[in-house]
Amino acid sequence: MTSPTCVIGGGLVGLATAWALRRRHPELPLLLLEKEAEVGTHQTGRNSGVVHSGIYYSPGSLRARLCREGAERMAAFCEAEGLPFRRCGKVIVATRPEELPRLEALAARAQANGIEAHRLGPEGLAEHEPHATGLAALRLPATGITDYGAVARRLKAKLLDAGVAIHLGREATGLQPRGEGVLVRWRGGEIFADRVITCAGLHADRVHGLQSPPPARIIPFRGEYHLLSPEGAALVKGLIYPVPDPALPFLGVHLTRGIHGEVDAGPNAVLALAREGYTWSTLSARDLAEVLTYPGFWRLVRKQVRTGAYEVARSLSKQLLLRDLRRLVPALQADHLLPGPAGVRAQAVLPNGLLADDFLVARVGRCLHVLNAPSPAATASLAIGEFLADRMAEG
Ligand SMILES: Cc1cc2nc3c(=O)[nH]c(=O)nc-3n(C[C@H](O)[C@H](O)[C@H](O)COP(=O)(O)OP(=O)(O)OC[C@H]3O[C@@H](n4cnc5c(N)ncnc54)[C@H](O)[C@@H]3O)c2cc1C
Repeated sequence: MTSPTCVIGGGLVGLATAWALRRRHPELPLLLLEKEAEVGTHQTGRNSGVVHSGIYYSPGSLRARLCREGAERMAAFCEAEGLPFRRCGKVIVATRPEELPRLEALAARAQANGIEAHRLGPEGLAEHEPHATGLAALRLPATGITDYGAVARRLKAKLLDAGVAIHLGREATGLQPRGEGVLVRWRGGEIFADRVITCAGLHADRVHGLQSPPPARIIPFRGEYHLLSPEGAALVKGLIYPVPDPALPFLGVHLTRGIHGEVDAGPNAVLALAREGYTWSTLSARDLAEVLTYPGFWRLVRKQVRTGAYEVARSLSKQLLLRDLRRLVPALQADHLLPGPAGVRAQAVLPNGLLADDFLVARVGRCLHVLNAPSPAATASLAIGEFLADRMAEG
C-alpha cells in the first residue's frame, strides 16, 4: 500500500495545498494534521479579509506572482462555491507632500506587476470615498474582500468529501527521516508518510526545527484593530489605506469595510508576548524567551527602534490612533472607536535582522517547509497550494 502524503497545518495554506494535491492525484492517500479543534483558527480566521491586488511586492517575486494568480483563483473559488466575495476596490491615499513620490513609485510598480491602478486627485478621491481627504490617491479596482474563515471551512468540507483524512486536535511533534519516507509523530501516535509539507504559520520555524535548524525565526507581531461604531462606519465606503513604508508595508493604520459590513480601523503592530497572544495579557515564557534570545530580533529592534516604540505607544493611546486615522478621514471621532479584534502575524526574521521579504519554502529531505507566508498569503493561498504541489513533484 502507498504511504500517505502528510500536510501539517490546517490554515489556508495547508488546506489549499492539500486541495491542489487532491485535484492532481485523486488516488493519493492524503492526511492533514491540525493541532486545534477546527481549521483556520489562527491567522486564517483573524485577518482583514482583503483579497489583495499585489501592488506592493517586487516585480518577479513569488509574492507578486502568487498574489495576482491567487486573487483570481480566490475570486473564482468564492463564486463557484457561493461564498461571500465582493470586488470593492481600494484607495491608497497620500496625505503629505513627502508621500507623493512614494505614491508615484507605487503606480509604477502596479504597471510593472500588471495591476490596474488609477491616479486620482482630491475630487476623484471624494467620488469614491466622500469622507476621505488627501493630496492624491491611487485606486485599485481589482481589490476585493471575502471571509477567509468561511473559505477554510469550505476547503475542509471539500477535502473530506474527496476522501482526505483530516485529523483535528493533533499536533505534530516529530519528523524523522525513515528509509524512503518520514516518520511523523504526535502525542500518542505516529504515521509513516511518503512526503510531508508543513504549513504551520506561527509555528513554521519550530516545525522545521523538528527536522533541522530553521534558517529564520518566526517573530509574532500582533495587529490590533478597533471596530467603528455605525456613525463612524458611515464615513467609510470601502478600503482606505495610507501610502506604506516600503520597508514595512504591513504597517500604517487603515480603514477596511469587511464582507459582513463591519469597518475595522487599525492595526497597531506590536510584538506579541506569545505566538498566539491575542491580548497584552497573554504571555508564554517559552515563546518570549525564544524571541529575546534570538540575535536577529535585536538586530531588527536596533534598525526599527523608533517605529516599534511608536507602534507600542499607539497601541496604548487611542488618541494617537485617532490622530493617524484622521489623516485619512478627518471626521472620525474618539467615540467612533470601539474595541475590536486582533490577529497575530507570523513574520520570519533572518539572523541579520531583516524581515524575510518573500514567501519562503525550504526543502529538507522528503519534507517541504513553508517558513514565511505573511500577507498576502490568504489571498495567494490557492496559488501557493499549486506552487507547493509543483515543488513536491520536482523532488
Ligand atoms: C491581522 C492580520 C491581517 C491580515 N490581513 C490579510 C488580508 O487582508 N489579506 C491577506 O491575504 N492576508 C492577510 N493576512 C495574512 C494571512 O492571514 C496569512 O498570511 C495566512 O492566513 C497564512 O496562512 P497559514 O495557513 O500559513 O497560517 P495559519 O492560518 O496561521 O495556519 C497555520 C496552522 O498550522 C497549525 N499548526 C501549527 N503548528 C502545528 C503542528 N505542530 N501540528 C499541527 N498543526 C499545527 C496552526 O494551529 C494553524 O491552524 C493577515 C494576517 C493578520 C495576522
